[in-house]
Amino acid sequence: MSVATECGKPSVAGAALPVEFSQVLMQWQRHSGRHGLPWQGTRDPYRVWLSEVMLQQTQVSTVLNYFPRFLARFPDVQALASATPDEVMALWSGLGYYSRARNLHRCAQVVVAQHAGVFPSTSSELQTLPGIGASTAAAIAAFCHGERISILDGNVRRVLTRLLAFDGDLAQAAQQRRLWEIAQALLPEQPAAGDMVAYTQGLMDLGATLCSRSRPSCAACPVLVLCRSGQDGTASRYPVKTRTLKRRHESWWLLVLRSPSNDGAHRIWLERRPNAGIWAGLFCTPVFADEASALAVLPPNTGRMQALAPVAHSLTHRELRLHPLLLEMSHTPVSGDDSGRWVDMEGLDRLGLPAPVRQLLMQLPD
Ligand code: SF4
Repeated sequence: MSVATECGKPSVAGAALPVEFSQVLMQWQRHSGRHGLPWQGTRDPYRVWLSEVMLQQTQVSTVLNYFPRFLARFPDVQALASATPDEVMALWSGLGYYSRARNLHRCAQVVVAQHAGVFPSTSSELQTLPGIGASTAAAIAAFCHGERISILDGNVRRVLTRLLAFDGDLAQAAQQRRLWEIAQALLPEQPAAGDMVAYTQGLMDLGATLCSRSRPSCAACPVLVLCRSGQDGTASRYPVKTRTLKRRHESWWLLVLRSPSNDGAHRIWLERRPNAGIWAGLFCTPVFADEASALAVLPPNTGRMQALAPVAHSLTHRELRLHPLLLEMSHTPVSGDDSGRWVDMEGLDRLGLPAPVRQLLMQLPD
């Protein structure tokens, strides 16, 4: 509910709102925002959804490489739904956060099977689909159908908490709800055609460009006169979030088994990772918690072993140190079980592999 404050500004959830914000933001976006991104200028929910999912936790510069390739192979939701999980994972390989790809695939299958291949049009219906959260649903509904609904991803949280000097602790669900309420109240009152696109894109652009995490460019910001933290130089204090992520350090040993293939090239032994946990469902070399365990699985006199330089890899909750052990085998043994398979080097492109493992395999010494 909105009430008037002493200074005449409406107050929502205890915060006085700058009523001009949406107009200033839309004007800035139309003149100075980003307009050339390949997922802009469309009202196709498939493209908006795909870009939104790819952009979660991933830089625009990275998504610019993946988005066109993914679209070329899967031009619509039907094509994606009928792909195999391995095809989807192979194209996602390197983007990280692989649960996004699994949900993307499942969501496409649900849209085809239960919605006749057409995405629902409202944010509340969109949120019932696998992997589509409130902010992604809002982005699709606002961009494609002009729904008056606010996004609230990490960048937008930063912009709004700074704008209002919102000091609620976003580690608490109640404060997150307060900020949603405020975000909703800041929307253009009666959006004209195109306003929700300009406003939503404006929030994204401001968060991705001027209102950056470490050094916001307040002097160049179109909403500086409305921004409480920008005015008093305290932007770096926001957003407030007391619960910080604790990263665990772990070492893994990767057993890289390499053997000659018929054409004189090489093959690598790969196994599918379990369906839960790190790199779930991807193909990978066998992984061990220590070197002794890796060596223990090898029959005696199997070949020449070489310890390669360790590789550091960061995940959301873990810092991994990968220790590759390259074992040259004189011939390709016949696989005695179905836990994995021998893959030619050129076949690696067709499988979903974790990015550091793919990179390691591509750079193996001769
Ligand atoms: Fe962010 Fe500074 Fe703009 Fe405020 S004035 S929105 S802190 S860039």
